[in-house]
Amino acid sequence: TYSLGAKISNWDEERSLWLSRNQDFPNIVNGKARILLVTGSPPSPCDNAIGDHYLLKSIKNKIDYCRIHGIEIVYNMAHLDKELAGYWAKLPLIRRLMLSHPEVEWIWWMDSDALFTDMVFEIPLSKYKDHNMVIHGYPDLLFNQKSWIALNTGSFLFRNCQWSLDLLDEWAPMGPKGPVREEAGKILTANLKGRPAFEADDQSALIYLLITKTEWMKKVFVENSYFLHGYWAGLVDRYEEMMEKYHPGLGDERWPFVTHFVGCKPCGSYGDYPVQRCLSSMERAFNFADNQVLKLYGFRHRGLLSPKIKRIRNESVTPLEYVDQFDIRHSAQGIS
Ligand code: UDP
Ligand code: MN
Repeated sequence: TYSLGAKISNWDEERSLWLSRNQDFPNIVNGKARILLVTGSPPSPCDNAIGDHYLLKSIKNKIDYCRIHGIEIVYNMAHLDKELAGYWAKLPLIRRLMLSHPEVEWIWWMDSDALFTDMVFEIPLSKYKDHNMVIHGYPDLLFNQKSWIALNTGSFLFRNCQWSLDLLDEWAPMGPKGPVREEAGKILTANLKGRPAFEADDQSALIYLLITKTEWMKKVFVENSYFLHGYWAGLVDRYEEMMEKYHPGLGDERWPFVTHFVGCKPCGSYGDYPVQRCLSSMERAFNFADNQVLKLYGFRHRGLLSPKIKRIRNESVTPLEYVDQFDIRHSAQGIS
């Protein structure tokens, strides 16, 4: 059967030895676990130029969030493994990055169609000290309903450790393109509630693995106290209301951490929603987030659908007051 690469069985020992020998590359920096955010898009251009424009906006949004929070970022456009093309491409990539960056404690995968919409919120890592995977979802949908949307693989974290390599090994075999992926899709559709008939996808395969081999759950944290992934349709029309009533830093339905455009496919041909609705919603999410970034510089968008910006305060002869007041890094330090 398919394998992601040479079987590794002593990664925890190897990695901790490496860390002790390479103290210039610590896995904890200033008391914070080192995080590597990983995202990417297909090697070729999108079917429409507008799709590429939104990929650019999406990476700009992630660069902003990661700069503010001291997170490193990788953008991948290669298919490391031809058999695992498409949505499965994240598996060999995550494995490769774990093995090539032993200094990284957490690898955070984020889809290209997911945007940060709370620029202040930080992942509460201390909550996950006894876990190796953090993913948004609902235990009831997972174990009682066996729903194919119980978890979302558009934004999740993996600790760099042997357990994660083992989970990737068990997750990957339904992925190889062609008959294997097709046949596996039938098993997933037969077993997961609400799943349409199509080839095996990484999200359904993970859900199926976790409900059939529940011992994995000991180290999986199913998070829903904030939107590590937030389904866009229920959020994008409420941004004005959120701005009126709340403030960034909450991360939940009051001010969603991530807005994920599930079913939109701005870079491909067929999505589940009208293209215009997707594009204008993505524009709103982008500008909603960008306003939080521009605030430090004294600007904001004229409206959530407008790329044009306007000044929100006058130039000052004592600019450092504004830094103290508006630089997110200052408030973010208090949160972690
Ligand atoms: N992806 C990638 N390379 C590919 C195809 C997909 O890096 O060739 C990434 C991309 O970030 C995308 C994610 O995998 O958002 C999930 O793929 P899917 O086809 O499910 O796209 P989505 O529904 O998220 O648009
Ligand atoms: Mn997605």
